[in-house]
Amino acid sequence: MTATTLFHAPLAWLDGRWQPDVLLRVGADGHWLDVRAGLPAPEGARRLDGPVLPSLVNAHSHAFQRAFAGLAEQRARDSDDFWSWRERMYGVALRITPDQLRAIAAQLYTELLAGGYTQVCEFHYLHHREDGQPYDDDLAMSWALAEAARDVGIGLTLLPVLYAHAGFAETGLRDTQRRFRTDADWVWRACQRINAAGLPLVSAGVALHSLRAAHPEDIRHLQQRVGTTPVPIHIHVAEQQQEVRDCLAATGQRPLAALADYGLDPRWQLVHATHSTRGEIDRIAASGAGVVICPGTEANLGDGLADLEGWLAAGVPMTVGSDSQVTRFWVEELRWLEYGQRLGQQRRNVAAWPGRQPSTAARLFDACLKGSAAAAGLGAWGLVPGARADFLVLDVAGCGLSGLPADALMDGLIFASQGQPWREVFVAGVSQPLRDAARTHRFEAVMQACWGA
Ligand SMILES: [Zn+2]
Repeated sequence: MTATTLFHAPLAWLDGRWQPDVLLRVGADGHWLDVRAGLPAPEGARRLDGPVLPSLVNAHSHAFQRAFAGLAEQRARDSDDFWSWRERMYGVALRITPDQLRAIAAQLYTELLAGGYTQVCEFHYLHHREDGQPYDDDLAMSWALAEAARDVGIGLTLLPVLYAHAGFAETGLRDTQRRFRTDADWVWRACQRINAAGLPLVSAGVALHSLRAAHPEDIRHLQQRVGTTPVPIHIHVAEQQQEVRDCLAATGQRPLAALADYGLDPRWQLVHATHSTRGEIDRIAASGAGVVICPGTEANLGDGLADLEGWLAAGVPMTVGSDSQVTRFWVEELRWLEYGQRLGQQRRNVAAWPGRQPSTAARLFDACLKGSAAAAGLGAWGLVPGARADFLVLDVAGCGLSGLPADALMDGLIFASQGQPWREVFVAGVSQPLRDAARTHRFEAVMQACWGA
């Protein structure tokens, strides 16, 4: 874009509700100059053909797992759980090349855009050659993800992962984890190199795989390297009951309590945080750290249900993530997030806040909106001045919401829509294509190479 662009929307989601006649002004840098309701469309403004809402950040993705989605839904033995799934997932991780990763990620990122996400946080641990040796450029796999994001036009927060141990009581990794091996210095150097590259729409933070894969000396070492640099710090934590038991055995504490002892702050993003106590939630809330819930994946893997009411009541910033890529659509994630609670508690509208925000969908959506900037390491997010001009145009009739009163559109979208709800998806003020046949052909060729007879 070369100059200011003006959009006008009949309705837009501002300050937790739909407001009419909204004028949206985008600067030459693709960020909002201002967004104001109750104004007529001036000459030269582009009229948007439906209600406008902010897109969301997908705060947790492993792109390569897109090549595995749909291939782990059969059971041939008596038991099947997260750990048996993980062994099969490693089978894919051990084979993928940088070119294949780029094709897989390009397909995934196109689908994520169509799912209403315009920024994806890649929790990226698949770094080395198939034999575990580094590539000539040891960030070859990271660049493959960055190229895929550039091809698609989606924002990317790359999070190189510190992955050093196979378990709380184990030193080093197993042979099946040889492509993941990193330490604090490696991760910090990767973060600095990616940020120094200055790629449009791409930035980097850091990640720790988990408390079992990053031991206390690794975590402190990385904290010391990062210092006060304002980059996001992501970690998987408290996803599985087995992990809670192992952490208790190794440290005498549950995972969230053990993690809180490192001194968290708003840069920290706790992925899953499924198994928590209210005392742990209070400690996380006091630190300012956020939680990233992945309802589709957590359901798929049988992880358990997060304490949604506890996290919301404590005001902890929240986001959702597509994680293993079985769900690539945030509407479905928010629907699952609430429905899991309803099924478990035999109650309705669990996430609503009587007297403050009676709409369940609005409470969930605004919680995710609030958590988005910190999760992605961006200064601002949403329909606010300074944030990148990313937004969605709702196709009311196309997703089955015709005739719904305007003030019920968010509830309708989350709980009663069907099919593709977006007429258009904008990133930095530019409408992006939501499908690409050539990209899908390249992805199909990779799937054939991975899984063909
Ligand atoms: Zn994950």
